[in-house]
Amino acid sequence: MLTFLQVHRASIFIQVIHTAMKDMNPNNNLYHKIYQGERIAPEEALELFSWDIIELGNAGDMRRKLAFPKETVGFIIDRIINFTNICEAACAFCAFHARANLIEPYEVTMDDIYLKIEELVAAGGTQVMLQGGLHPDYTLNTYIDMVTSVKKRFPDIYLHSFSPSEIVHISRKSSMPINDVVKALKLSGLDSTPGASDLLVDRIRNKVSPKKTTVDEWREVMRALYRNDMMSSATMTYGMGETDEEKIAHLKVLRDIQDETGILQAFIPWSFSPAKTRMEDTLPATGIDYLKILAIARIFLDNITYIQAGWLTEGLKLAQIALTMGANDMGGVLMEEVVVRATGIKTRTNDKELIHIIQNAGKIPVQRDSRYRAIKEYV
Ligand code: SF4
Repeated sequence: MLTFLQVHRASIFIQVIHTAMKDMNPNNNLYHKIYQGERIAPEEALELFSWDIIELGNAGDMRRKLAFPKETVGFIIDRIINFTNICEAACAFCAFHARANLIEPYEVTMDDIYLKIEELVAAGGTQVMLQGGLHPDYTLNTYIDMVTSVKKRFPDIYLHSFSPSEIVHISRKSSMPINDVVKALKLSGLDSTPGASDLLVDRIRNKVSPKKTTVDEWREVMRALYRNDMMSSATMTYGMGETDEEKIAHLKVLRDIQDETGILQAFIPWSFSPAKTRMEDTLPATGIDYLKILAIARIFLDNITYIQAGWLTEGLKLAQIALTMGANDMGGVLMEEVVVRATGIKTRTNDKELIHIIQNAGKIPVQRDSRYRAIKEYV
C-alpha cells in the first residue's frame, strides 16, 4: 500500500519529467499550443509530419479528449447499396466502375434494394447508404423515385445517401441549380449526404478524377446541404501522389467549410488502394502514414467531433490502434461494400467483432444512430 507521501512524490516526479520533455522538445512552441488546445496554422500542421509517431499519437489522443472527453467509441449497423457501376466519370483511381472491366455493368432493381434493406433491418441496422456511379441516363426523377420508394416502405430507415459528385451530376443532367437538387431530394425523404471528398486539391483531381466535382463544386454542395438543414461528413483519400502540403490543404478546405456551416459530423481518412486501378503502379501508403494523418487531422480539425478509424482500408488491427491516437468512432459495419472491395481488399466485420476490438482497446462500445446518439452501450 502506497503512503500519501509516496504518491505525492511520484506525482511531482511525473510533473518534472513532463516539463523536462517539453523543454527538450525542439517543437516546444507548437507542443505548448497543441496541449493548450489552441488552433494550429497549416504551416504548423505540416511540421507535425516530422514528429515522432508516439509523441504525435499522444498529442492526437489529448486533443480527442478535449473534443470528446468520454471513453466511448461508437459504431453503426448500416448497409451500402451500390445501385449501379455504370459511370461516365471513369476515374483513374477507381476499380469499381464498369469501364474498369473488372465488374460487369449492372443496375439493381427496386426489388433488390427492398430485399437488401429487409436483411439490414433483420440484423438490427438503422442506416442505408445508396451510392452509385454517375449513370449517363439518370436524372433527378431517378433519384427521387429511389428515395421515395425506400422511405414509403421503410420510414424508420435513415438515408445517408448519394455524394457531392452525384448531386452535381444530377444538377448537370437535369439543368437545375445544386441547391434545388438538394431541396428536392430532401423533400422526397433524403436525410443526409456523405461528404465523399476524395482529395480536395484540384491539381490531384484533374489527374485522377477530372470528370468529378471540382473543389468549388464540392463546397457548393456543402453550402446547399447547410441551407437545407442537412448534415454531412468528410473523407480524405490520400496516397495518390499528393505532397504533404496538399494533404494539409485538403484539411484546410474541410476546417473552413466546417467553420462556415457546422454540418460535418465526422471525418474519415482512407488510404488509396491502387490495386486493379489505372494507378496500380502507385506505392501504397503505409500504416505509419495512416496514423500520422489521423493524429494530425485530430489536432488540425478542432471543429469536428468524431474522427472515424477506417478499418475497411487500413484493417481492423490498425484501426484499433487509431483509437489511441485521436479516433473515437469505428464507423459502420458496411454490409455489402463493393467499391473498395473491387481493389482486392477483403476486410469484413460485424457488430460482435467491432465490440470486441473496442473493448480490447480499453474503450466502451456504443451502437449509435446516424446522428451519433447512443442506441445501446456495451458496458
Ligand atoms: S470513383 Fe465514383 S465517379 Fe469515379 S469512376 Fe468510380 S464510381 Fe465513378
